[in-house]
Amino acid sequence: MKIILLGAPGAGKGTQAEKIIEKLGIPSISTGNILREHLKNGTELGEKARGYMESGNLVPDDLIIDMLKARLSKDDCENGYILDGYPRTVAQAEALKDMGAAIDKVVSIETEDEAIIGRMSGRRSCKNCGASYHTLFNKPQKEGICDKCGAPLFQRDDDKEETVRARLVVFHEQTEPVKAYYEKEGILSKVDGMGTISEITERIFAALGITE
Ligand code: ADP
Ligand code: ADP
Ligand code: ZN
Repeated sequence: MKIILLGAPGAGKGTQAEKIIEKLGIPSISTGNILREHLKNGTELGEKARGYMESGNLVPDDLIIDMLKARLSKDDCENGYILDGYPRTVAQAEALKDMGAAIDKVVSIETEDEAIIGRMSGRRSCKNCGASYHTLFNKPQKEGICDKCGAPLFQRDDDKEETVRARLVVFHEQTEPVKAYYEKEGILSKVDGMGTISEITERIFAALGITE
């Protein structure tokens, strides 16, 4: 199954992708995590992307499309995958189609902007695997340590309030039109993204036709 999770920054894409991985055993591909890996390693792509990411803007489509193409060509994508954070523009959606990726389902996690600020201020991310936690709503078993891989957690620089607000504006202007693109294709499901993490997992599984 090839699945896209759409949603505002902080909608819960990464958190819910982890639940789908546990259920279906397909990899989740987060373009944000891949980019942060490039930043950490100081690659040419990382240096080109840095300024955009720090200011909450989108990294240019051509860079992202090449990066995604390379990732999807790896063997672990053969039996399907979850895309978390891609596509973020209609041009990226069109490029995905041109790559021949036959997407089965697009789930749009619908949230209210005001709730996002609170979620992001408490978000903690794993330095190593990118897993997402929250200081109140999704605590790791051991404070500051990733349950999945044992690496330390950190707070992303772009999760401060002013950058989150900028990212929400970018989301409404550039990413929301992607929903209409997939609605036309007949594969979009909208899911209420307000509620507890497990309530939203249930809704997403129902939209995907997964039985718990
Ligand atoms: P979030 O999890 O909050 O939605 P991400 O980790 O997906 O954030 O993305 C962090 C930043 O990386 C974005 O603000 C943007 O600068 C860049 N980025 C990630 N994915 C894309 C993409 N598909 N297109 C353009 N920029 C992207
Ligand atoms: P995204 O990948 O869409 O940017 P995340 O999955 O990283 O979003 O979630 C953003 C933050 O909100 C994280 O700290 C996460 O633990 C928390 N979170 C996710 N879903 C919920 C929810 N339903 N209620 C409260 N907090 C949530
Ligand atoms: Zn981890």
